[in-house]
Amino acid sequence: MRIKKNNLRVIERLRNTKKTLFSFEILPPLKGKSIQSIYDGIDPLIEFSPAFVNVTYHREEFIYKKREKGYLEKIAIKKRPGTVGICAAIMNKYDLEAIPHLICGGFTKEETENALIDLNFLGIDNVLALRGDPIKTETHFVPEQGGNQYAVDLVKQIVELNDGKYIDDNIENASPTNFSIGVAGYPEKHFESPNMRADIKRLKDKIDAGAHYIVTQLFYDNNKFFAFVDACRDAGITVPIIPGIKPIESLRHVTFLPKFFNIDLPPDLTDELDKCKSNDDVKAVGTAWAIQQSKELIEKGVPCIHYYTMGKSTTVKKIATAVF
Ligand SMILES: Cc1cc2nc3c(=O)[nH]c(=O)nc-3n(C[C@H](O)[C@H](O)[C@H](O)COP(=O)(O)OP(=O)(O)OC[C@H]3O[C@@H](n4cnc5c(N)ncnc54)[C@H](O)[C@@H]3O)c2cc1C
Repeated sequence: MRIKKNNLRVIERLRNTKKTLFSFEILPPLKGKSIQSIYDGIDPLIEFSPAFVNVTYHREEFIYKKREKGYLEKIAIKKRPGTVGICAAIMNKYDLEAIPHLICGGFTKEETENALIDLNFLGIDNVLALRGDPIKTETHFVPEQGGNQYAVDLVKQIVELNDGKYIDDNIENASPTNFSIGVAGYPEKHFESPNMRADIKRLKDKIDAGAHYIVTQLFYDNNKFFAFVDACRDAGITVPIIPGIKPIESLRHVTFLPKFFNIDLPPDLTDELDKCKSNDDVKAVGTAWAIQQSKELIEKGVPCIHYYTMGKSTTVKKIATAVF
C-alpha cells in the first residue's frame, strides 16, 4: 500500500502553508481515450510539488439520432465520464491529493450521497461543490427532481454527512465523513447574479453552510481579484481564497474566454494580443501575462494559485518554472 506524505486535507494544507502553493485543474479525457493522457498531463508538473489537482465533472449532453422511418431519438451522452475513477487513479499513482468536482445538476440527493460514500471509501476526502451550468437545451439551470438546487444546498448535504447524518435517519451509529469542501467564487461576478454584492452574499451563504475555502473563476486583471478579496473580507468571509489562472494560448481564446466565462480581458492585454499574427505569438503573450499575474499574486501572499490546464501542461509548466 502506498504511504502518502501529503495526506492532509486541502484545507489543512492551505491553513498551514507559509508560501504560495501550486495546484492545477484537469478534465477527464473524451470517452474512448485512455487514462495515459491524464498521466501525460500531470507528469511534467509533478516537479513543482502540486498541493492538489482538481478533476472537473461534465454533465450529460443531449443529441438526436436518426432512427428508422425518419424518427429522431433523443439520447443523453456523457462525453467525459470518469471523474471519480481518475481521482482514485491519481491518488494511487502519485503522492498527490485529487479533488473531484461534484455538481448538483443531474443528481438526486440520494445519488449525491451514494457518490460521497464512494469517495469516502476510496479515501478521497476533498471535494469542490458546485451547482453546474444549465445544459445546452435549458435556458436556465433546472435541478433534478429531489436534487440540490444551489451549490449551498450541496455544501449543506456534505456537511450533514460530515456530521454522520445520512438521508435515511434510521441509520444508527453512522460513520461521519471528513470532507474538506471548496466552492466557486467569481471575481467578475457570476453571470446570473444581479450585482457583485448580491453574488458575494450568496458566496457567504456557502461559507456559513460549512465550505472551507474558495477557488475563483479565471480572471486576467489582478486588481479585480484583489477587490473581490477585499469585498469578501468586508462581508465577513474569512476562509482562504485561491485565484484561478488560465493562460491565453490561441487566437480563439481571445473571443471564446470572455464569452464563455463572462470575464473581461484588460486593455493592456488586448493591446498586446492585437499585435499577434499567429497562435504562437498569442501563446507567448498569454504566458508572459500569466507569469506577471502569478508573480504579483505571490507577492501579495495568496495561499495557492490554481492553474486551469485543460489537460495540456506545456504552458503551465513554463509559468511554474518562472514563478515556483
Ligand atoms: C473553480 C470552478 C470550477 C468549476 N468546475 C465545474 C465543473 O467541473 N463542472 C461544471 O459543470 N461546472 C463547473 N464550474 C462552473 C459552475 O458550475 C458554474 O459557474 C455554475 O453556473 C455556478 O456554479 P456555482 O457552484 O458557483 O453555483 P451557486 O453558488 O449555486 O450560484 C449560482 C448562481 O445562483 C445564485 N444563487 C446562489 N444561491 C442562491 C439562492 N439561494 N437564491 C437565488 N440565487 C442564488 C448565485 O449568486 C449565482 O448567480 C466551475 C466553476 C468554477 C469557478
